[in-house]
Formats: sequence, C-alpha cells, structure tokens
Amino acid sequence: MRDRAEILKVDDCGWICYIGYTHHNRWAFGFTVTAQQTPRKHICAWVSVKHTNAGLRQVYPAEKEGTFLEKKGLTAAEALEKLKQGNKRYLTATANPGDVSAELRKATCEGGQSPYAVVVTCSDSRVVPESIFCAGLGELFVIRVAGNVMANHQIGSVEYGAEHLGCRLVVVLGHDNCGAVGAAMQDEPTGFIKTITDEIREAIGEEKDYYRACCLNVEKGVSILKESLHVGGEDDLKIVGAMYHIADGSVDFME
Ligand SMILES: [Zn+2]
Repeated sequence: MRDRAEILKVDDCGWICYIGYTHHNRWAFGFTVTAQQTPRKHICAWVSVKHTNAGLRQVYPAEKEGTFLEKKGLTAAEALEKLKQGNKRYLTATANPGDVSAELRKATCEGGQSPYAVVVTCSDSRVVPESIFCAGLGELFVIRVAGNVMANHQIGSVEYGAEHLGCRLVVVLGHDNCGAVGAAMQDEPTGFIKTITDEIREAIGEEKDYYRACCLNVEKGVSILKESLHVGGEDDLKIVGAMYHIADGSVDFME
C-alpha cells in the first residue's frame, strides 16, 4: 500500500502521514515512523473520501489537526509515558478529563479505533482504567475480568489489540486489596468463581502477604502473555505489569 500512497505531510514529531488506496472504495490513513531503527507502518484509521474535480480528497479525520491523529501509533515507550502522565493527572483530578465528546464519538465511529495501549485488568468497580490514566474514547483497549486472570479469551483479546489495532504496549494492571486474590488465599469458592481462584492460586502459591500475592498474580499474567501471544512485530511489543493502589490512585509499573 505504501508504494501507492500519497504523502500528506511530515510533521514535527517525525511522523510521515499518507493515504493510500486499499479496497472496498475506502482509503486507509496511515503513517510510518522515521525515527525508529526499523520503520514500521500501521493502518491507523479508515477514512471516508469524497470525489471532487481535483480528484479524491480525504474528508475525515485527516483534515482535522490535533487530537485524534496525534494519538496514533505510539511506540511502547511513548505509550507507557502517556499512561504515566495520565495517572499523574488522575491523582489530583475530581472527574475524568478524558475526551468523550460528540466530535470524537463521530470521528471514532467513522475512522475506527486505534488505541495506544492494551490494558488487562480486574473487574473491580474501583479500578477503572480510563479514569486511572485520564483516557478518552478510543485510547485504551481494555480487557476486564475478575482477578485479571489470563485465559484464552483474554489472550485472544490482547492479540486482537496488538495485532489488528496496532497497540505496541500491553499492561497487566492488578491492584491492592483485590477480592479475587483474597478469595483465592482464604476462601473455598464454588461454581465458576473457582475457575478464577484456581488460576490465581497457581500464580500465588503459598504466598501469605496479601499485596505480594496481588503482585505475583500480575507477574503470572505477564509471563502467560509473553509465552502465549502470537503477534507480528514482537520486537517492539512491550508487555508490562503494573499495580494500582485504590486509596491513593497511583500506579506502579513493574519495569
Ligand atoms: Zn481485583
């Protein structure tokens, strides 16, 4: 596709933006990175085009400078820094400042999604990734399951986010006081809950310290993903664990 692409602009951060014909009468808006050792290419959004006397012109979202396009195609290091900065803002926030505007809803509806990170986390209602990282619509590809356990459906979802949506960063986000980990340590759950606590018990072994057990559960998730993912371009894919602290709102990344 790149050979047939029209270069639109080279902006200050080194992105080369282009459009190229793909299929089904649609165009893909994409970019490549010159600053990387190995340039890579993503299709970051589908855009509509309109026919004019001057030929085809894209109409959305490429003519819209700023917000939407700047979020595309971050490297793992850039995505990690963005999460850290978002969490820093969250610590003093009273509401989630992420963009949920009608304009962005329309842009992501027409242009598709291109999140900058995959986050696998617990279903705990106090652990809300979009809030914790001050993220808006289309920014995070979130997979939530009690105890952030890593079974086939979760792994498949992570693969989708990395392979098809182009995320280069995957975060397994655990948290302190996790009820699922507590249940695995102290209770004898029955029913389908047991399928979750069995996974967690395997991860934490005989660990008696609650917080440490939560960390071990995250580390297990990271190691399962590293062993199991089938994703192209693995060299620049980063999988990292992190712990969210419910009371103070901070996230520690396990780098
Ligand atoms: Zn939890």
